[in-house]
Amino acid sequence: MRNNVQIGLSLILLTVLGVLGYNAWLLETTPPERNYSAFVDELNADRIVAVDIRGGEIRGQDRRGTDFITYAPDIAAVLPLLEAREVEIHAGPPPSLYGRIMGLVLLAMIGGGIRLMFSRRSNYGEKTLWKDKRFQIRTGPGETKTFADVAGIDEVQEELKEIVDFLKNHRKYNLLGGRIPKGVLLQGPPGTGKTLLARAIAGEASVPFHSIGGSDFVEMFAGVGASRVRELFGLAKKTAPCIVFIDEIDAIGSRRTSGGGANEEREQTLNALLVEMDGFSSTETVILIGATNRPDVLDPALLRPGRFDRQLTVSLPNLLGRVRILEVHTRRVAVTPALNLTLIAQGIPGFSGADIANLVNEAALIAARRQKQAVEMDDFEDAKDKILLGLERRNAAINERERRVIAYHEAGHAIVAQLLPETDKLHKITIIPRGMAMGLTQQIPFEERYTYSLVYLLNRIKVLLGGRVAEKIVFNHLSTGAANDIAAATDIATRLVCEWGMSASLGSIVYRQKQHQFLGDIASKGDFSEATAREIDLEVRRIITDCSEETEKLLRSHNRLIHELAEVLLINETIDAEEINIVMQCYMSSVSGMQSDRTEQAGAVPSVAAVQPARGNPV
Ligand code: ADP
Ligand code: ZN
Repeated sequence: MRNNVQIGLSLILLTVLGVLGYNAWLLETTPPERNYSAFVDELNADRIVAVDIRGGEIRGQDRRGTDFITYAPDIAAVLPLLEAREVEIHAGPPPSLYGRIMGLVLLAMIGGGIRLMFSRRSNYGEKTLWKDKRFQIRTGPGETKTFADVAGIDEVQEELKEIVDFLKNHRKYNLLGGRIPKGVLLQGPPGTGKTLLARAIAGEASVPFHSIGGSDFVEMFAGVGASRVRELFGLAKKTAPCIVFIDEIDAIGSRRTSGGGANEEREQTLNALLVEMDGFSSTETVILIGATNRPDVLDPALLRPGRFDRQLTVSLPNLLGRVRILEVHTRRVAVTPALNLTLIAQGIPGFSGADIANLVNEAALIAARRQKQAVEMDDFEDAKDKILLGLERRNAAINERERRVIAYHEAGHAIVAQLLPETDKLHKITIIPRGMAMGLTQQIPFEERYTYSLVYLLNRIKVLLGGRVAEKIVFNHLSTGAANDIAAATDIATRLVCEWGMSASLGSIVYRQKQHQFLGDIASKGDFSEATAREIDLEVRRIITDCSEETEKLLRSHNRLIHELAEVLLINETIDAEEINIVMQCYMSSVSGMQSDRTEQAGAVPSVAAVQPARGNPV
């Protein structure tokens, strides 16, 4: 650490001396400026003897031997004049480039010095190349990852093993004349481990890993992005074989469109990327890994052979995947041997790898706060609720009447969910306010449900409406507590009609309705007529009204159950699936001839997440 400070200080000192020297040199060498019109006048008066043109900058000498500098708006216009007067012309590359490079080097040196002074990470060999303030290529081994750190995405990993082999034995492949792939595109939702995979490839093959975010290329100034691309590839070639990872590649790689301004700059950057990708030969063994969660917007040119021609999809982990990822992340914390990872994984459908890493961390923090030696199941349960629903607000001021309304509201949701077929399994009901929700009924869908039946969707709407309907039946009043439920129900009904073509009267037609932003153009109007719009509205309203009526009928016929469940809730505040089943069974056996067939499903494997905070607004 002390070493770093010393090196950093001397770097800064050196740089300051350098800056002083550079400025002195600049002062000495920059002659007084003359405005362009004066220059043209002098030229016409034949008083100029020689000029040195660099870019738009003209340094000249007049007959008296005085040096001057001027800036021409258009060099092409000056040239004929100069030639006519037989002025001696010298030309060279624009000096500003040199200045810019000097500036960049100085900035990099000062930045590097400061970073060295304050960096602790430098001990681990991670270094960041600072070119300017915002652009950074993170490079060096950093925290080395291997395939052992990645779990639940075995197919993708299997595909990528080949890349590791390419990197390790690139000479063998080159000798045989095989073309090593240049680009791999990993597509998938955020947090599914794309960066981790790229890092793991570098780790497995023991090659340098350079990473950069796609948005780092995007700048307001023309040409900056393109020069950054060249910079990146320059570095990559020097350190080959290596991995270059570009996160959010859609920031530069989105489809080229006609249009000026910012688009033009992005296109230049994309073109530079394409040129560079085509430019390096396969013997250089630089493998580019791009990550995106929006593959649909990428320019097709990027996906052509020789560029990102391998595309792998990294999807959210399924139940087994989540168990594996939990295994990886619980390796680093002290957990009780009684921990049932499968049970935890069942309760977190839809979680990404990053969510799971976060969950394990939260659980460990909660266990530590509770002075435990090891993390236990209830720590995980609480961590999950905290992440999904926000903090418990045990001391939120709620009066007794509000509490009762909440309890009946939640009971309404739960009973509808329990009585109707094809609904998700109830997991927990609580009337303790959490985050934005005043109370909630949590359901866990069955594992790996990717499509939904009409019955499921209609029943989902009824479950959502169940809260408000129960309030109406018991208290004969309406409250704002059902706002979220109603919004969710309306959303399902609308998509049912417009997206999924499930409405009998409107048929299997897609009615694009929402505003959607596509490459800067906002399509705000639905592509259907006014009359159709009205028909859609009516149909959505009909679905909601029908569902609401059916829910009311159902709940009225089980009026006593609402009271029983609400009372249990008022006493226990939170009840889980098992307790719900007990209440249900007691009720069912007391109702002659009726048997709960729903409870038999309790053993089924629950799955994909759709946890619905039941009420978003205070009642
Ligand atoms: P992405 O790049 O897809 O957004 P990351 O690779 O940055 O996701 O994931 C963030 C973190 O989440 C990782 O560092 C890791 O701790 C955890 N993680 C994500 N996916 C996995 C996985 N499949 N296996 C293990 N850990 C994972
Ligand atoms: Zn609700």
